[in-house]
Amino acid sequence: MTQARQDSEPPLLTTDVITSVENTETDLAIHLRTLPAEKQRAFLSLHNNFPGQGNPLTSIIRSNGYPLGADAGCGGVFENISRINHGCLPNAVQNWNGLLGEEGEETVYAIKDIKEGEEITTSYLSGGTSKERRAVLKQSFGFDCTCKLCDSDEADLKASDERLSRIQELHIDIGDSETVRHDPEKALGYCKELLEILEVEGIKDDRVTAMHSDAARAAWWAKKFCEAKVISAGKSCIDRLDMKPFTKRPQKHDCFGAFSVNWKTKLEELPKERAGEEFEKWLWRE
Ligand SMILES: [Zn+2]
Repeated sequence: MTQARQDSEPPLLTTDVITSVENTETDLAIHLRTLPAEKQRAFLSLHNNFPGQGNPLTSIIRSNGYPLGADAGCGGVFENISRINHGCLPNAVQNWNGLLGEEGEETVYAIKDIKEGEEITTSYLSGGTSKERRAVLKQSFGFDCTCKLCDSDEADLKASDERLSRIQELHIDIGDSETVRHDPEKALGYCKELLEILEVEGIKDDRVTAMHSDAARAAWWAKKFCEAKVISAGKSCIDRLDMKPFTKRPQKHDCFGAFSVNWKTKLEELPKERAGEEFEKWLWRE
């Protein structure tokens, strides 16, 4: 993973084979028997977080399944990727890409440098404080998290929880169109604060500057978004392909100039000669 930075594989089994809730176990069993013997063994050797509670094949799917895409109604289990443990501060992320392989593949991307022998982890959650994470992991996956973050001392855990709560608040504040419309400086300040907390996660928001006609900054944000997506979801990721045209022509974005022309800039105004702190000051309009 240190060199490759990514790895993909097709699912062993997907929930597409289930015809109805009552038939879940039977449908899974029928389909499992059609797989080559080594794939059947691979499926059956996956971890079961719910031993003795109901149907074993269903429990394996429940313990190891991933949604096949963000809005997908079905999930799949994977021979290797399903073995990756959860970490609340993971060093990898995974994404389903329906365009890969014959019928789509799941890919794991390293988002940090991973040393040889270091465990690869992904997060099964979408964030939350330690208390919230504990509850969801227990309820949905049946285990108590003992990752580095959850095992850290009380003071560190408290500081981390405060940062994570702030991330949730900032997501709401940034999404508030009234602030973006009437107080864009404040909204941009929220983005800066969020990015400082999220440093490792990369840039995901280009909306505020675009809404106030700031082409130079909007294009820069679009470029950063695309770069972050290459790392976490690959070059063919749909979100990246959707955003890419705006790196050259941010004016084409639906939001562009939606609220004002107060920050109007041209693409050429991107100060290529500025670097470090000076560039940061320009970027955040300080
Ligand atoms: Zn944890």
